Amino acid sequence: MQTPSAIVIGAGLSGLSAARALVDAGWETIVVEARDRTGGRVHTVDGIDMGAHWIHGTEGNPLTNLARQMDVPIMFVGGDSSYTGGWEQLQLHMAGHQLPLEQKQTSILLMDEVQDAVDTIRRDLQRSGGADISLEQAVEQALSQRGLLPELRTHVAWHVALLSRDDWAAGAEKLSLLWWDDGYEVYGYGDSVFCHGAASLTDRLAQGLDIRLNHPVGRVEYTDESVTVFANGEIRSSASQDETPRNPAAGNGGVDASRAVLREAVLAGEPVCVRPFVD
Ligand SMILES: Cc1cc2nc3c(=O)[nH]c(=O)nc-3n(C[C@H](O)[C@H](O)[C@H](O)COP(=O)(O)OP(=O)(O)OC[C@H]3O[C@@H](n4cnc5c(N)ncnc54)[C@H](O)[C@@H]3O)c2cc1C
Repeated sequence: MQTPSAIVIGAGLSGLSAARALVDAGWETIVVEARDRTGGRVHTVDGIDMGAHWIHGTEGNPLTNLARQMDVPIMFVGGDSSYTGGWEQLQLHMAGHQLPLEQKQTSILLMDEVQDAVDTIRRDLQRSGGADISLEQAVEQALSQRGLLPELRTHVAWHVALLSRDDWAAGAEKLSLLWWDDGYEVYGYGDSVFCHGAASLTDRLAQGLDIRLNHPVGRVEYTDESVTVFANGEIRSSASQDETPRNPAAGNGGVDASRAVLREAVLAGEPVCVRPFVD
């Protein structure tokens, strides 16, 4: 029986994980990556994470399981990553004074209540089929019913700015109420980080894989029996039932055509991170 083969496009976390799973299942696999490095949005420079950093919610998070499976050390830091290092260690300062524990708790409980109110506004909007509004507008609506002291409004504004900036990389005025946390999975309490940066996981996943860097894929063509991947404007890999590249140019590509006989392609990875925004 012939070994099944696959091309994975993109050497980010998704592509590398897919490629590793395929290799583990006995597939001959090539990873084709546009950039000159692996990792994609995971990128660690001198131990500093320039992209992904947190394992949001440790237990139950697939990243935790993957790190353990690959023997990549992680460190539990607790709390919620919006409050870097955990809520317990956070000090809140206002007007030059550190807030006592009781006020700190009041602050977080207030924000919990505001988030519940915002959820209610969203449910009402979904039921009525009304037009989407921004997260900021929803928070304003939630606060307008409460008559909060200016000081407590400052607390809410701080929490909203922190969570929208840290978790969604945009101001609350740009986030859609209906979609801002769509797909946001909450795992077990407390976050973790990778002891040697997040790239320690992608580097480990990449070990031993056949990865072709500097190969931006521009086109993928499918027939019933073959898949052809075009990179750098040239045919880099080709597949056919008789294992002969269909296009003569295939043999001249950066990927050895005889090794790139493919019957399946796994597409993974997106060049941009898309989040829903309110216009
Ligand atoms: C600044 C920042 C901070 C983040 N923080 C966190 C965090 O703390 N915790 C967390 O869980 N997540 C975080 N994320 C999100 C996380 O990084 C991504 O969800 C994850 O890395 C996506 O992996 P991916 O493989 O799906 O995509 P990517 O990492 O984007 O990988 C896609 C790969 O495909 C390649 N590619 C694209 N098009 C082509 C093509 N045509 N031909 C060949 N190759 C191609 C790209 O070059 C890239 O290497 C953060 C993201 C950013 C940007």
